[in-house]
Amino acid sequence: MNEPTVNHTAIHKHRAALDHGLEYWPSLENGTPPALGDYRWTDELILSGWYMARTGRLPENGLEYRTGRSGGGFDCLDFKFLPPEEQLPGSTAVDLSMPLNRRGDGLPEPVARLPWYGGGMSYGSVSEQVMVSRARAAKAWGTFTCTGEGGYPPGLLPYKEVIITQVATGMFGVREETIQYAPIVEFKYAQGAKPGLGGHLLGDKTTNEVAKMRESVPWVSLFSPFPFHSVYSVEDHKKHVDWIKTVNPTALVSVKVSTPHDVDMVAVGSYYAGAHIIHLDGSYGGTGAAPEIAKKNIAMPIEFAIPKVHKYLESEGVRDQVTLIASGGVRTADDIAKAIALGADGCVIGTGDLIALGCTRCSNCERGRGCPFGLTTTDPELQLLVHPDWGAQRISNYYKALSTRLAQILRGLGLRSIAELRGRKDLLVYVGREDREAENR
Ligand code: SF4
Repeated sequence: MNEPTVNHTAIHKHRAALDHGLEYWPSLENGTPPALGDYRWTDELILSGWYMARTGRLPENGLEYRTGRSGGGFDCLDFKFLPPEEQLPGSTAVDLSMPLNRRGDGLPEPVARLPWYGGGMSYGSVSEQVMVSRARAAKAWGTFTCTGEGGYPPGLLPYKEVIITQVATGMFGVREETIQYAPIVEFKYAQGAKPGLGGHLLGDKTTNEVAKMRESVPWVSLFSPFPFHSVYSVEDHKKHVDWIKTVNPTALVSVKVSTPHDVDMVAVGSYYAGAHIIHLDGSYGGTGAAPEIAKKNIAMPIEFAIPKVHKYLESEGVRDQVTLIASGGVRTADDIAKAIALGADGCVIGTGDLIALGCTRCSNCERGRGCPFGLTTTDPELQLLVHPDWGAQRISNYYKALSTRLAQILRGLGLRSIAELRGRKDLLVYVGREDREAENR
């Protein structure tokens, strides 16, 4: 791959900050602190993400890497850690692995070494370099990543054993061979960040290469409809599952849904239609391309959806036959552990990978040439800013730091495996905004 030819001072200083530390952050030159993030993805979470991606370690300089300042949800939950003398020693090995096929149906039983995998980000929404970076990191850590709805760029083929092929409502880039490559096929029925709206890729990002992959017309905006017009019932969904089984008899099936008030019924219906993985996508996910009004007002926050679905699957007697995955606002290792304590088996992360690659949460993903740092762009010049060697190392380091923190949490709770944490709401405590503020004083 060629070296980047973009010669913009701020971009190079941004890269210097990522590679060498915050003292290289451009705005610090005139004494101004960095203006980053919001109450959910705070400046400190972004900066600590960069630190973790650079070093593979948790920050030791006081940066808050565990929670945000939203005043709700995960940010108002904490763990009931044991007294220090009762916690497991730091040398105790803990098992973070997550089995993905619990149906006992004779199909492969892959086990992710980590309790998370990478969520779908399509070719078009992000560059091929970003997709390959994520795939390499997933392979290195024994977990998975997902194509999103935009096809399967050839650079992903060497990593196909860890690539989840997504089939979504626009069917962009869906081909028989990309289903046949896949260990897992994910039906995306909706996204929590914009349920009822479908996906969209604006014309400026639909380059010749993107259009070819999606079998569409260059420079024309692409909209994925909502919903799947072939699915209005559990029986219709079963037909979809049967279609995948016909094309690839060994693939597991994941069903990604948003979190409406009846998400528990949707989940149990998906199980009876044959799904191995039920993926709940709550309302706070999405890149900067998802409209704020949709993120804040439509789907249920993931912290409410997880226990609702977990409990309902238990009451139906099928909880241990399906893997429950949560996404949409899962930012940190602490969020992952909280989601699991609420009843999930594991999580999907997407924005975290982009933060590891230097995302500033500036919400410019869908404007003009896309991301100025080469992440959510298809611009031939900008996308060269992320070399997959660099990107894979950053994400791998980030995953290392997340797994370190998860192990700390488990030892602090006296648990030896992440599976033991599932559904242990009794190990969580509500910490109101006032308590959090008092703690920080
Ligand atoms: S444009 Fe780039 S830096 Fe800004 S939010 Fe999107 S991915 Fe992040």
